[in-house]
Amino acid sequence: MVEEQLLPRGITDKRVIEAMLSVPRHFFADKSMEAQAYSDFPLPIGEGQTISQPFIVAFMSQALALTGSEKVLEIGTGSGYQSAVLSHLVDRVFSVERISTIAQKTRRLLDSLGYSKVLIRVGDGTLGWADEAPFDAIIVTAGAPKIPSKYVEQLGEGGRLVIPVGPADTQELIRITKKDGRTREENLGSCRFVKLIGKNGWEEGGRIGELL
Ligand code: SAH
Repeated sequence: MVEEQLLPRGITDKRVIEAMLSVPRHFFADKSMEAQAYSDFPLPIGEGQTISQPFIVAFMSQALALTGSEKVLEIGTGSGYQSAVLSHLVDRVFSVERISTIAQKTRRLLDSLGYSKVLIRVGDGTLGWADEAPFDAIIVTAGAPKIPSKYVEQLGEGGRLVIPVGPADTQELIRITKKDGRTREENLGSCRFVKLIGKNGWEEGGRIGELL
C-alpha cells in the first residue's frame, strides 16, 4: 500500500509514512472487505459511510503538517482509521461522530487496539468542539456545502484546517491556514466524500432544491 499508492503520489512526510505503516487497516473495514483493506479505494464501514482510500488519508494527514505536539480535532470519526493514523502523529486527538452506533463500535475497536488517546464524542461536528478549542489542526472527513465558520473560529494561531467543500457529488479539498488573525486558503485538488450532515452542513435527507 505504502510503496505502490503513497510514495509515487507524493507522500513524503516520514512521520505520515510511518503512521500509515503502523495502523492495521484491515481491522477498520467491514469483515467482508478485509482481504481488500489495503487496496486503492474507499472501504464500506456500514450505515452508508466509508473510510477514505489510503492515499487520501495520508494526503490529508500530510496537509496538516503535524510535528508531534499538536492538539487535533477530527470531524467524522467513522471507523476510527484516520483517528488511529493521527494518534501516531500527535499527542491529542479529539474526534466527533454524529451516528452513535458507529461511535460506540469504534470506541471499542480503538480501545482493543490500544488507541486510547483518541477521545470520541457523539454529536453534530459542524459545531466543532468548543470546550476543547483552540486546535492546532482540524481535519474534516465528510464533504461540506461550505466551510462552517466554527472551524475557523476554533483554530488557534498558526492552525491548519483541511476540509472537502462543494456539491454532494464532488468537492475540492481546501486548506485554510490561520496566521496573525488572517486566513489563507489553498485548493489541494478534487475529491469525493460522504456528506457532512448537521446544522452548518447538509440537511439530513437532502436540502431544499437539491437535485437527487
Ligand atoms: N474518518 C473516517 C471517515 C468516515 S466517513 C474513517 O477514517 O473511517 C465520514 C463520517 O462522518 C461518517 O461516519 C459520518 O457519520 C460522519 N459525519 C457526517 N456528518 C457529521 C457531523 N456533522 N458530525 C460528525 N460526524 C459526521
